[in-house]
Amino acid sequence: VIDCTGDGDIAARAGAPFKIGRETDGAFQPMTMMFKIGGLRKGYNRDDLRSWYDILIQRIPEKEILAEIPYNNPALITLPRQGEALIQWTHIQQTLGTNAEQLTAATFEGRRQIRKAFEYFKLVRDQLGDVYLLDLPAVIGVRETRRIIGEYVISDEDVKNGTVQPDTVCHVRFGVDIHEPCQTEQTCWKHPGFDIPLRSLIPLKIENLMTAGRCISGSFSAHAAYRVTGDCLKMGEGAGAAATAAIRSGRSIRSYAKMLREK
Ligand SMILES: Cc1cc2nc3c(=O)[nH]c(=O)nc-3n(C[C@H](O)[C@H](O)[C@H](O)COP(=O)(O)OP(=O)(O)OC[C@H]3O[C@@H](n4cnc5c(N)ncnc54)[C@H](O)[C@@H]3O)c2cc1C
Repeated sequence: VIDCTGDGDIAARAGAPFKIGRETDGAFQPMTMMFKIGGLRKGYNRDDLRSWYDILIQRIPEKEILAEIPYNNPALITLPRQGEALIQWTHIQQTLGTNAEQLTAATFEGRRQIRKAFEYFKLVRDQLGDVYLLDLPAVIGVRETRRIIGEYVISDEDVKNGTVQPDTVCHVRFGVDIHEPCQTEQTCWKHPGFDIPLRSLIPLKIENLMTAGRCISGSFSAHAAYRVTGDCLKMGEGAGAAATAAIRSGRSIRSYAKMLREK
């Protein structure tokens, strides 16, 4: 079984150990409800991406804005269709994506923040245009939940040192990208590039089970780098290939990974 549920639902229900959040206090990255807008001013281009927010905070104290939408680095991603863009601005802090009630509450809060965003957009009409809501996602975006503890835990040192692994399934280039759990900032840092070993896809305690995607075994900061789609995709491909190779060699995935490491 390869658990690609994002949240590590299968592994957790099977009894695999897991961690959530920062090693120091368990706080985890916020959720975001993205949304699509139309009506962007004609000729609006990527160079204008931040200008509307900078103008907005000259009109309303940033503290007031952050009290309503607690994230100070909104992104406007222009789309190929004229006048359309995606907005990444809402932040719903300390609500857990594996708790159904909290997920529902976060969905409501995401929609409330989006309504507030449109009140703000009216104040920067000259910069943005007369924008309107085109689309909401079917589900809210969850950045972080369980990290299933595996045969190997990718550490902060591995990230900083760019550790090369003997049983690598994926090489991570994307920098550490932390939407701060309890503050309004984003913290990003670069690293030399590090490997994800097959062992970090193999949960402790449970046999014939692998994970792939953001729920694999790593530290809070390592997760903040490998959680991106390109790496999750490579982990899925690597897990599938390793499972096939293990079956063909007549070994369990745990013993196959051990063999690779010792080779
Ligand atoms: C707001 C936001 C913006 C982001 N922006 C970027 C970005 O710009 N670039 C980037 O690379 N990454 C970005 N990410 C990160 C990235 O999208 C995710 O971390 C990544 O998609 C996680 O991949 P995954 O395969 O682990 O989980 P997911 O992509 O969540 O896939 C898990 C899938 O499993 C399905 N599933 C779960 N349980 C079951 C079940 N019981 N039965 C059947 N199916 C099930 C789910 O429906 C889902 O489709 C962003 C994340 C968020 C939240």
